[in-house]
Amino acid sequence: MWEDLDVTAQQQQTPQISDAAGGPRAATAFAEPAPSALLLLGQGSDLDSERGVECVGALPAASDPDLVARAHAARAALGSRAFVLGHHYQRDEVIDLADVTGDSFKLAREAAARPEAEFIIFCGVHFMAESADILTSDTQQVILPDLAAGCSMADMAAIGQVEEAWDVLADAGVADQTVPVTYMNSSAAIKAFTGRHGGTICTSSNAHVALRWAFDQVGGVDGTGKVLFMPDQHLGRNTAVRELGLSLDDCVVFDPRKPGGGLTPEALHAARMILWRGHCSVHGRFSVRNVTDIRAAVPGVTVLVHPECQNPVVEAADMVGSTEYIIKALDAAEPGSSWAIGTELNLVRRLANAHPDKNVHYLDSTVCFCSTMNRIDLPHLVWAMESLVAGNVVNPIVVDADDAHWARVALDQMLALPGY
Ligand code: SF4
Repeated sequence: MWEDLDVTAQQQQTPQISDAAGGPRAATAFAEPAPSALLLLGQGSDLDSERGVECVGALPAASDPDLVARAHAARAALGSRAFVLGHHYQRDEVIDLADVTGDSFKLAREAAARPEAEFIIFCGVHFMAESADILTSDTQQVILPDLAAGCSMADMAAIGQVEEAWDVLADAGVADQTVPVTYMNSSAAIKAFTGRHGGTICTSSNAHVALRWAFDQVGGVDGTGKVLFMPDQHLGRNTAVRELGLSLDDCVVFDPRKPGGGLTPEALHAARMILWRGHCSVHGRFSVRNVTDIRAAVPGVTVLVHPECQNPVVEAADMVGSTEYIIKALDAAEPGSSWAIGTELNLVRRLANAHPDKNVHYLDSTVCFCSTMNRIDLPHLVWAMESLVAGNVVNPIVVDADDAHWARVALDQMLALPGY
């Protein structure tokens, strides 16, 4: 069933800021405790969200004229003891200091391939640092320069909610016909849940392979088995409909804020894709209107969007793919060709700068950074690196051993999928 998405309404329901103790300051009513969205810069902790560690911070001033020089000095002092990872959506001044750039899973694997690096400084968001901690050795420490750098999508699936959802599926008699498939953009606890229940992790590049594998565990795509896809409903829906040939009517949305997920047992029995009600606040913004507007303004433009966009946007676009796919598509594009890109703005700006011979446009008419990713700025990176130089390990990301084990099981299942 296609659900007319109320992204705006869902965003409005989200508490915007937590106080230093992690309590909601501007929260609206919830049926049950919901994860907080953002923490004050460099302050506080939120044990209920995917960020669970206290951050102590005496940050350099952003106006410090020596900030760039301090960053390079600290980086040089750390040498091969540190390895700096920069996600594609990071700010330019952070990317300038990265030893390698990539998407979340590429960066986690790059970290695992550097056993000599004592410190993995992850300029990304919290779930990415958790994945790096799971994939690196016990002698390495993963550092997230600002613990407030979470992911609003990952925070939309708290482990308690997911466990309750599984109970709902069990009560409806469908849990034993259901395989969980969880997007990389999720907390370690959700990945561990997936491992414990025989599922797999996926990325935006391999979601179609992961879904096929999952359906094969319960009778195939043409059978009656189901996938519980978390936490991004759009990636799940787009992949099921565009890549596996399922229909929109085969998809239902499980809303953790409603009793029984807002679904009847009959609806759960009839469904093939049970989509968690989560979305990316960046990619969920793009609209069909953006696509029609850019086509009118730029004749011949090729519209290329990320699969975290809403289904009507994906259907209106010319091409769909992950960030790595988008980067390769621009690399291969003809000089003089025109492109409208529907993904995070920092990446689109860098692509435009890297391809001055092509006309690269941003699909949205308004600015659309990933606000949580942008928490990692030069002051936080300098603070983290200078602290390490001084012998103080700040903001280590440590996944508890049991969750790490089961999350690793689910990640290893992904690595065993065809194509890896
Ligand atoms: S771009 Fe979206 S999915 Fe990625 S970190 Fe930001 S909020 Fe999360």
